[in-house]
Amino acid sequence: MVDIVRKEWQVRIHWLDRFTIDAEDLERDNETEVPFKQINIKELLGPKFVKYKIQTQAWLIILNDDGSLFLPAGTGAGKTESIFVPVLDILLENKNAHILIMIPTKALSQDLDLRFRKMASNSELTIQLYNSSVSRKAKAKIRNKPREIMIITPDTLMGSIIGTRNEDWYEYLTRPSMIWIDEFHATSGTLGTALCYLIRSLYILNPSLRVFFTSATLPNTLEIASLFPFPSSIISGGSRHGEIQFHIGTIRDFEKVLDVMVRDDGQFLIFIENKRKIEDLITKIKSGGIDRYHADLPDNERHLILSKFSQNQLDGLLCTSAISLGIDIPGVKNIVFYGFPRSFSLLFQEMGRGTRDYNSRGNVYLLLDESKLIDLYYKSHLEELKRDINTHRSEPVIIDLLNKKILQGMVLFAIKLGLDTLEKLKENFQEAHNSTLLEQIITWLFIKGLITKNGDKYEYFKEAADEFLLDFIKNLRPGFPKFKIWAAQDGREVELGYIGAENIPYRACKGNYYIKEDKRYFIKEIDSNRGEIHVVQSKEHYISKNLVSSVVSLVNELKFKKYLDLGIRLADFKVQVRPKMLRNYENSETSEGTLIIEEKPSKYGGVFELNYETKGLLIEFAPVQNEPLNQMVLYQLAMILLQNARVMINVSENEVDCFQHHERRMLYFLDRSCPTGVSQQLYENIEEILLKTYQVLTACVCKGGCEKCSIPLESNFLQPNFNSNDIYRKEELLALLRRCLHESGSLE
Ligand SMILES: [Zn+2]
Repeated sequence: MVDIVRKEWQVRIHWLDRFTIDAEDLERDNETEVPFKQINIKELLGPKFVKYKIQTQAWLIILNDDGSLFLPAGTGAGKTESIFVPVLDILLENKNAHILIMIPTKALSQDLDLRFRKMASNSELTIQLYNSSVSRKAKAKIRNKPREIMIITPDTLMGSIIGTRNEDWYEYLTRPSMIWIDEFHATSGTLGTALCYLIRSLYILNPSLRVFFTSATLPNTLEIASLFPFPSSIISGGSRHGEIQFHIGTIRDFEKVLDVMVRDDGQFLIFIENKRKIEDLITKIKSGGIDRYHADLPDNERHLILSKFSQNQLDGLLCTSAISLGIDIPGVKNIVFYGFPRSFSLLFQEMGRGTRDYNSRGNVYLLLDESKLIDLYYKSHLEELKRDINTHRSEPVIIDLLNKKILQGMVLFAIKLGLDTLEKLKENFQEAHNSTLLEQIITWLFIKGLITKNGDKYEYFKEAADEFLLDFIKNLRPGFPKFKIWAAQDGREVELGYIGAENIPYRACKGNYYIKEDKRYFIKEIDSNRGEIHVVQSKEHYISKNLVSSVVSLVNELKFKKYLDLGIRLADFKVQVRPKMLRNYENSETSEGTLIIEEKPSKYGGVFELNYETKGLLIEFAPVQNEPLNQMVLYQLAMILLQNARVMINVSENEVDCFQHHERRMLYFLDRSCPTGVSQQLYENIEEILLKTYQVLTACVCKGGCEKCSIPLESNFLQPNFNSNDIYRKEELLALLRRCLHESGSLE
């Protein structure tokens, strides 16, 4: 290596706050004798391996056949060894046993696959990775000879159970001796709820099944454990990390921080949520020691970058949260956040990628992005931020056992698995049975022609039911699929990019316009099966805005509470959305240069209707006499509340839809048509969200509102250049919130 003589240098960074997080270590345990039958711990883990108490505890529970286990422990606590080592011992001892290891993301599966292979390399055990990154040929081979350890994602497991005609493979998938769910918190919401029911069903089929759950952030472990019918132990581990200097600044100083990173001798990770921003920055950064890591890179490139980084051939990575789960790189010293991450869980998870050794020292640089509401809020509430970080605040995992949509799929799935009598279904879906929901769901399955009855038994109608279930599983992941946009150009089609599908049935419908970089494209065709939108560039200068009418009806109230002047209801809703009119405004200039805007009625009105049933939250504001409430105030309030809720309860932006009923002063927050189970969390946290919204607004120094504390006035993604006539209505919002929160005493 060339020796570089370093010049003296100095950067001045404006820190809002700095504090130290003390190093934490786990209790060690050298005394306890653990009765491994097949494994020699020293050989397997090396002579230097230090045993922690949580590990010997987990080993004893697993080896002594002592039921199931929950192990929530911070990063660096050795959770992987806690579970994997005794599992190896059991599998070596019992040749007929096998384990399914469910890992929520593909990237983490691949990483753990390599680690497990290393650990099991001296045994006769075989590890198989079965997910969408594996070739068809390799998958077929695995199906014919599944072995002792299989790594699989929850959705692949369910999809395979439905899709297969191979009876041995079906038996293998539905009768594991053990299941290990790693990073359980990452399945929070729809996927976690489905997973909970799947585990219950498999347990009823095979009561000797043992399930091990591990997670870095699971604040509601007791509650989650109570949802499963089997006896289980909970080991609460601490976490393990070195001393961390925590710096809070703003993204204005990003370049300076980057400069510090480059000059520092430790490796660094810079977390940036936005992939495009990462690509932008990486082209500007000239240093060869820095690369990037995100889900849009091809698998092999991503692997190569990560392995270079692990071998210390790279100094730093600009990365998304794709790297945040489980991936373990000992050399990382500095962690930078470009903006506050989506949640506290993510903040801790990502912080945990660095300073993993008790004796090490490292830094975390949290650079707040003042264009975001929550960052702005924390900028003016630094004490609160500090407290939340020091007390390890994290969001609970959401399991919503009364979610109708999920029940529709999972009851059908249970019947497929052989829970085919009412008695068995009652046992599995106890909560739904107690609320009479189970009977409704079964009736619905009859009406839809997915099941029939033969004596005491429900029969599964193979083709229709399979199709329904495969579709159901595709929608289990939060968020929506992206649609690829193809534009016709000179007789061929060119890829224009992607848009999210959340609004497609009614906003991006056929005959409307899609606008990108000042060009307007006419939407010719939407192919939802292939996830494609076909467009052709339009010569005419149109701007268009679609009007939709939404009818939201409350079907069944589940919970009600009153908070000051607000009525808050959790309920089942029915939603109908239909385009009232697609308005096309034609801009043409007259000879005098004036602009004529002409409104054209749409011929597509009413064609693309969207109906769905879901769960949601309704807020009713008490009426104030002689004081009409402006519709836009309610609209803006809904948007701001949702922005704050996103950060407070870890709701991603595609998971909640909001509607309003302005005459009756009501706001609805609904789970999307593919439900997420977040409305319950919204219901429980709404007072805090309202209060935070008030504080965000008052914390901003602007008069009347600005894009920081309020929302961008027109945020329809199809119309980035559309200028709404609306204005910021901060004063009216504040007045409304003050009335809502009047007696709370928490306002100054
Ligand atoms: Zn403002």
